[in-house]
Amino acid sequence: MSQFLPSVKCDIPLQDAGVYKLDCECGLSYIGQTKRSIRTRVKEHIADVKHQRSGKSAVCDHILDGPNHYIRFDRPQILAKEHRFLPRMIREAIEIKKHPNFNREGGWVLPPAWDPIINKIKTKPKHTTARPQDIVSSFCIDRTINNN
Ligand SMILES: [Zn+2]
Repeated sequence: MSQFLPSVKCDIPLQDAGVYKLDCECGLSYIGQTKRSIRTRVKEHIADVKHQRSGKSAVCDHILDGPNHYIRFDRPQILAKEHRFLPRMIREAIEIKKHPNFNREGGWVLPPAWDPIINKIKTKPKHTTARPQDIVSSFCIDRTINNN
């Protein structure tokens, strides 16, 4: 029975830097990344909505877009724990490509050469998410070293 209950461990990644996803009831998601704790970043999103910081916050603008939008701030999903800048940015760009989202443009955009890799990750079953993340991170590092 205990395996079905959220353990204390589930909360720990929220304290880390990384890439996260906020789902909206309309089916779209917001993908974000932070070098601070994901928990802090999610609280900022909530504050943006509370203070109606439209034009500054994609999350706020999305909610103001119509009555169908209800963002699950209570259920942020950790897509990757990553404190290193470049792997985190690349990871965010990959996740933005993977999920239907209401992100604004202006993030780090992946070159088309990455498409085959993204498609590979996309087709993996959900329970192996921990592994492609490691592959992506190490691939990023390899690529960075080779390019410089
Ligand atoms: Zn929505």
